[in-house]
Amino acid sequence: MTRKVDLRSDTVTQPTAGMCAAMAAAPLGDDVFGDDPSVNALQDRIAALLGFEAALFVPTGTQSNLCAILAHCQRGDEYIVGQMQHCYRWEGGGAAVLGSVQPQPLNHQADGTLALADIEAAVKPDDPHFARSRLLALENTLGGKLLPMAYIEQATELARRQGLARHLDGARLFNAAVAQAGLLGTEARAEARRIAGCFDSVSVCFSKGLGAPVGSALCGSAEFIARARRIRKMAGGAMRQAGGLAAAASYALDHHVERLADDHALARRLAHGLAGIEGLQVEAPHTNIVFVDLTGAAREQSAALLKHLAGQGIQATGLYRLRFVTHLDVDSAGVDQAVAAIRQFFNAKQLSHA
Ligand SMILES: *Cc1c(COP(=O)(O)O)cnc(C)c1O
Repeated sequence: MTRKVDLRSDTVTQPTAGMCAAMAAAPLGDDVFGDDPSVNALQDRIAALLGFEAALFVPTGTQSNLCAILAHCQRGDEYIVGQMQHCYRWEGGGAAVLGSVQPQPLNHQADGTLALADIEAAVKPDDPHFARSRLLALENTLGGKLLPMAYIEQATELARRQGLARHLDGARLFNAAVAQAGLLGTEARAEARRIAGCFDSVSVCFSKGLGAPVGSALCGSAEFIARARRIRKMAGGAMRQAGGLAAAASYALDHHVERLADDHALARRLAHGLAGIEGLQVEAPHTNIVFVDLTGAAREQSAALLKHLAGQGIQATGLYRLRFVTHLDVDSAGVDQAVAAIRQFFNAKQLSHA
């Protein structure tokens, strides 16, 4: 029987036995009254870890970004954001629909950054013709790409000089931190804090590579988080005995941060396995996401390839580009199975692993 290998996203992970035990053991309260001890502990912990005064536990990264943008901006303000960033492209236009906050999207450079000159040119003068430029939102990792630390420092410093607040969509901040620590020979948690330190607010997802079933946290100053809490209420409210979910997130912070390096190694293994196939262009992964483009005669083959893979128990996505994501529930055998199936589709001989 073929094994199922789900490479659609790092959101598909099942909680581990240890995580389930932590969830079952979590003391609970009513978080709307602010007395769920497990939620409070998680909020204190993630805020301290990333160097902020306060944090707010929310069910999704989408709600976290929405609360952040609406806490930074008023109606008629705008946020400067990249075309491919989640809080512009993938959140149903929530900031505009629900907050009357206008996005000012910018094209990305090849390395995922927004050019400093483009950011500067996008900041509107104080003039009644224009929306008020209020916020710069960056994302790290962006589509699995690690934004260079020096760039983050320059872009956020530029935003500060222009009077903009700075928000980081760090759904995969810990992937960025682990990759950066690997490059610098430093410690992942210290890199996470260093990246976060450039921003006024940071959103992190526990439900992606960290492997928790549900949940994100928004971090910022105590005053900012108080505003975000009110917006969370308007955006559907809070959860009650959410401590079990918070305990899963806490468990992930204990056990699933440094191991993200394993996911990154598997992504490299996948990219290496696909090297040299005619018609396949593979982007070298920085973290746990491998993007593949079909070129030449293979250009129109993406749906057929995904169908072929599905027939062999392998799932991936192909909305803009083919995307393969490694995570806690994928191992090297699963990656090799995916490589073999893709090679078979293209009739390409197997490469040996380096
Ligand atoms: C997944 C993701 C989100 C949203 O998280 P959900 O929990 O799915 O709403 C936000 N930003 C980025 C960069 C993401 O990858």
